[in-house]
Amino acid sequence: MAKILIAGLAGDSGCQVATLALHEKLLQILSENELVYASTLIDAKQIPEEVDVAIIEGGIRTEHEKHLAEEIRKKSKTVITIGSCACFGGIPGLANLEEGGELLKKVYAELEGTVEGHLPVHDTLTNYVAPVGNVVKVDYSIPGCPPEIDDIAYVLTTLLEGKVPLLSKSDVCDDCKRERLGTYKTAAKRLHESIPDPDRCLLEQGYLCMGPATRGGCGAPCPAAGHTCDGCRGPTEKNDDQGLTMLDALVSLANELGVNLSLPRHSGSIYRYTFASSRIEKLLRERFKI
Ligand code: SF4
Ligand code: SF4
Repeated sequence: MAKILIAGLAGDSGCQVATLALHEKLLQILSENELVYASTLIDAKQIPEEVDVAIIEGGIRTEHEKHLAEEIRKKSKTVITIGSCACFGGIPGLANLEEGGELLKKVYAELEGTVEGHLPVHDTLTNYVAPVGNVVKVDYSIPGCPPEIDDIAYVLTTLLEGKVPLLSKSDVCDDCKRERLGTYKTAAKRLHESIPDPDRCLLEQGYLCMGPATRGGCGAPCPAAGHTCDGCRGPTEKNDDQGLTMLDALVSLANELGVNLSLPRHSGSIYRYTFASSRIEKLLRERFKI
């Protein structure tokens, strides 16, 4: 009987709730194993000793979360990160476009709506948002926002059977049913400004779809529903930097699509979930020593 721990960092609990959506698969896992800690599910205050499988969600933004991740790693045989915040820093990782202290000042003291420019005291805040893998060794990652239920079930059951789980090696375009003709519209478009052709590739229509730079396996539900892929499953197996991969594709299309590319303007699109684990962010941190 393996001891399982589920911990949420950065106040996260959404991916733990996704784990609950395993329904009867979870009941089966729990009938054969023991849940020894789950911050939103059971009342256990201390991280137990000798955990077999630890599941961590959420990125690291405070010194406390850093210590918690270190303690979990020390006490666990296998550590899995679930969700794009834990795996890559997620959307909160876009905060790394600014150094931590500067960001607090900007948001709490300099914005027009701020009451008397009051700056909150938060002396345990780390200077930047970090994916869990930046702080401790991670054995397996289940990306996604939220992660796919089938991925959670597959990784957990495979590990508990003593085997090695492997995630999809395809990209989202491989899963997508939209037709690709290899020609592109001449202007970049946004979804709230026009309705896309329901059958044709969104990128070829001029919408910024992250499919080519994103790990597949989700079945491409977003393009199927008429929305661009936002890249929530992070980089593909072949390319470790999602934004640079997309930038590369966009640069060759920039003239055809009329896209005026700039990092501050487009990082929220090409690095929506992965800026905190990108090469550019690492360079910025080294340059500014944050
Ligand atoms: S770019 Fe988007 S719409 Fe086009 S094939 Fe890839 S996932 Fe589908
Ligand atoms: S299509 Fe893209 S945004 Fe949608 S679930 Fe898959 S990876 Fe995430």
